[in-house]
Amino acid sequence: MDCLFCKIAAGEIPSNKLFEDDRILAFYDIDPQAPLHFLVVPKRHIGSAAELTAQDGDLLAHIFATIAKLCAEQGVEKGYRVVTNVGEDGGQSVAHLHFHVLAKRSLAWPPG
Ligand code: 5GP
Ligand code: ZN
Repeated sequence: MDCLFCKIAAGEIPSNKLFEDDRILAFYDIDPQAPLHFLVVPKRHIGSAAELTAQDGDLLAHIFATIAKLCAEQGVEKGYRVVTNVGEDGGQSVAHLHFHVLAKRSLAWPPG
């Protein structure tokens, strides 16, 4: 499948990695929107959060626990935001599930 994040997850396209294991990869966003901005993706292709099922519960728990660990390692002390965009109105530009992690600045709400 011609999918950018599948290729990054497989190491076919280089990325600036923070963490990798058999199931997930965390890497810095190429166009950061906060002083700390990284993405976490499953290695298995999932198109978006709209395709998740109850079978993905362990994977999601692993992703969120890893995000907490990475934020602590990166010295995040005042909180962070986890975002996953879905579809056109959600602002999704890469059709492979990814969680944005944004930190080290105060983030506005509501988003634009
Ligand atoms: P989306 O718009 O789908 O929510 O998020 C896609 C994100 O992927 C964007 O923040 C964009 O900057 C990032 N991105 C797109 N292409 C690449 C790439 O080749 N490498 C990295 N590290 N990030 C990318
Ligand atoms: Zn993919």
